[in-house]
Amino acid sequence: MSKQHLLAVIGAGPAGIYATRKLAEAGHRIVLLNRDIKPGGLAEYGIFVDKEKMKTGLRKQFKRILADPKVFYLGHVTVGQNQTLTLTDLQEIGLSAIVVTAGAQGTKKLGIPGEESVGVYHAKDVVYHFNSLPPFSEQKFEIGRRVAIIGMGNVMVDVANWLLNHQKIDQVVVVARRGPIEKAYDDSEFEVIEQYLDNAQMKTEIERIRPQLTAVGQNVDEIIGKFVKQGEPAEGRRLQFRYLCSPAKVIANDKGGVAALEVEENEMVLQDGKTVAKGTGKHSRIEVDCVIYAIGDQVDASLGLPFSRGAFITNPEKLPGDPNPAAYQPYDPEAKKVLDAIYVAGWSRNASVGLVGVAKQDAERGMKVVNHYLTTKEGFTSGEMEAKIEAILDKLQKKGAAVVMKDDVEILEGAEQEEARRRKTWDFKFTNDEKMLEVIRTRKAAR
Ligand SMILES: Cc1cc2nc3c(=O)[nH]c(=O)nc-3n(C[C@H](O)[C@H](O)[C@H](O)COP(=O)(O)OP(=O)(O)OC[C@H]3O[C@@H](n4cnc5c(N)ncnc54)[C@H](O)[C@@H]3O)c2cc1C
Repeated sequence: MSKQHLLAVIGAGPAGIYATRKLAEAGHRIVLLNRDIKPGGLAEYGIFVDKEKMKTGLRKQFKRILADPKVFYLGHVTVGQNQTLTLTDLQEIGLSAIVVTAGAQGTKKLGIPGEESVGVYHAKDVVYHFNSLPPFSEQKFEIGRRVAIIGMGNVMVDVANWLLNHQKIDQVVVVARRGPIEKAYDDSEFEVIEQYLDNAQMKTEIERIRPQLTAVGQNVDEIIGKFVKQGEPAEGRRLQFRYLCSPAKVIANDKGGVAALEVEENEMVLQDGKTVAKGTGKHSRIEVDCVIYAIGDQVDASLGLPFSRGAFITNPEKLPGDPNPAAYQPYDPEAKKVLDAIYVAGWSRNASVGLVGVAKQDAERGMKVVNHYLTTKEGFTSGEMEAKIEAILDKLQKKGAAVVMKDDVEILEGAEQEEARRRKTWDFKFTNDEKMLEVIRTRKAAR
């Protein structure tokens, strides 16, 4: 009987699932370990709630990939230091390789005074909340009526969409270090909130920063033509922009909540042909009840891989060729060598970069490297593989983990779809793990 490889893939978001497909296509068996009960990662819990076509399309694809009998899904299992399962546990069990595709679960802070106030949040937590990911689904967010969002990418748009269209708050102020031209959101995404744009404020704001824009050679009249539209903000809800401003301090009220955001005004300078923000020392105040950081995320250091400045350290040796194998190998800078048989891909390799398609491409390129590596190694007999899977299950059981398998996910999804139909909506999610586990248990018992 020929031998096969057995790998652990940590994280069942787009990167982990597409990686799993590539590995399975090469004939390997995969234990797919996922923190969340359901697979999908940010495709399930990040992409905006009403993107029905995209979400259902991805769910279908993911389901097909996971249906492969070579894939053994273990949900509700967090891998990391002080977790149910550690990387060392997996290394000791002795798998052919470990692939880390756990996304970017760490949060970035700005390190400004007052940022521990109630009402200062990270966009990821808010996004997880409105996408019903436990435990964020049941967290209380003190939003108030006026919110500052720091950053101007597509995540800012999603958060502003939720605040203005769903929470119906009065005002969102987008705070950006640089100017309108340097926006990182896509115009097509922006359309969902454009109706709230406070055009009069936008015009005044661009006029305010006219000298700084002109100084770096930007054509202000063209910018006004592009960014200032006609009309009043819909339903009196205002979307405003404060350009050339960096958060300097969160001013707390006497209840420990947010009273205002103090910003330092910036000028722009050209560096290597790019605009760079530079503080002027002049401060001003924006009256808001809540501040949300939409500034990208970093990887979770507690996973246990070498970590520096928000990212896992990968092999600095630049090897030629596409894909570059070095880029997918975690690297120990003290021992000056790569970690044996461990790889990273997706947002765990490049935090907060790109759409699902980018994570997919990254995973597929990475798995070329992994598949190549596996050709140099001997696999396992099916008996050996069963024993290794049993060893993982045994460790989890000893720690009392309530592990969720593929058929459990199907049961849960079936129950959620029934509930969605009952509520006459396209989607419904249970909002806490206990409820999901109970639904699975009850339905299995009734079979
Ligand atoms: C707010 C927001 C909106 C977006 N909207 C879009 C959009 O409209 N269209 C689009 O194409 N892209 C969108 N994206 C981008 C897209 O979601 C990402 O490109 C993609 O999800 C990244 O995939 P990933 O697998 O690397 O990480 P993730 O999707 O974050 O998946 C990580 C997985 O790892 C698991 N995990 C985490 N830690 C552990 C651990 N320690 N142990 C075990 N498992 C773990 C998680 O449970 C999760 O399942 C959006 C992103 C955000 C943040």
